[in-house]
Amino acid sequence: MAGLYIHIPYCKKKCRYCDFVSFAGRNDHLAYSAALITEMRLYAPLMKGREFDTVFIGGGTPSLLPAELIGRLLSEARSCFSIAKGAEITIECNPESLTEAKAEQYRAAGINRISIGMQSADDKVLSLIGRIHTADEFVLAFRAAQNAGFDNINVDVMHGLPGQTMGSYLDSIRLAAKLGAAHISSYALILEEATPLYDSVTAGQTVLPDEDDTADMEDAGFELLSELGYERYEISNFAKPGFRCRHNLNYWNNGDYLGLGVNSHSALHTGGKWVRFANKATIEEYLTDLGSGRLPVAETQEIEREEEMFECVMMGLRKTDGVDRKAFEARFGIDPVEQYAAAISAALLDETIVVEKDRFYLTKRGLDFQNEILLNFM
Ligand code: SF4
Repeated sequence: MAGLYIHIPYCKKKCRYCDFVSFAGRNDHLAYSAALITEMRLYAPLMKGREFDTVFIGGGTPSLLPAELIGRLLSEARSCFSIAKGAEITIECNPESLTEAKAEQYRAAGINRISIGMQSADDKVLSLIGRIHTADEFVLAFRAAQNAGFDNINVDVMHGLPGQTMGSYLDSIRLAAKLGAAHISSYALILEEATPLYDSVTAGQTVLPDEDDTADMEDAGFELLSELGYERYEISNFAKPGFRCRHNLNYWNNGDYLGLGVNSHSALHTGGKWVRFANKATIEEYLTDLGSGRLPVAETQEIEREEEMFECVMMGLRKTDGVDRKAFEARFGIDPVEQYAAAISAALLDETIVVEKDRFYLTKRGLDFQNEILLNFM
């Protein structure tokens, strides 16, 4: 299994908490799309014999681009790469730029999953974090996707936000569920340096819920998600049965993926080695390299076997299903329970891990202390 990621680094306006590689106020969408197509064509011969089971068009805000351009990118991806029949094809959208007409064009282009960033159903909170849509606009966007025939819709919600109460966080989850979201990703705010929100919080102008309140929100939110029929299958991800995100599962299973676009990351098994590489981080460098017919790779790293093993455990333990012992043994020739015997014994004593015949996984308490537990595996 392999995943294909296509990065669209444009947003109408930067949210106050965001440090993703996305840019507002640029008008080089066409040149960027042409460069993406060149990148696909350069990779085409190198990806021969590899089939992609998932495609994820992420950002940024891919829904900011005209739907025809997204259709063109997908059709080029199909002619350059082998995309599996029945592949999961996702596009990330923001409420202010998703219309029914666009959603219909996405469907016609073969997209079968939409991920919408709501973050909160509270307009006051949305304004404090610099989102440019309201809760009502989110509802319209969600219905637009449904009317166009999408049943596999993810909604992103956040907790630990300025001005957010327990009630408003739980209402955000209830709204997504009531509309019929098949999948909900619920993330805690990470206050990143070099963002306007960070500056405002450190200057005392904006107050965030404290750690205890954020943890209480998380506990209550996750409990509500379970009551509403969403299964937790990763630290922050919940799905109705049959709607787990296959693209992200591939990352958590440490599978191969090719990332296209500015600052995209890739990890591929090639020539008996596992290699990770990252693209250049600015649009200018990206366009220059592809304009000269060069792949815009900034750095390449060959992953040693020990590190690859550890990453399989680290990523696998994010999932509630944990690490598949047989898959690990097939990849590395050793049972992970044997390889990490000391770390697993320590976690068993703390009752933070469960070991079964086919897998081992963290308990609910273990998921809360994942980083500490992983130190022993290192
Ligand atoms: S829409 Fe997403 S990518 Fe764009 S600025 Fe906001 S959080 Fe960042």
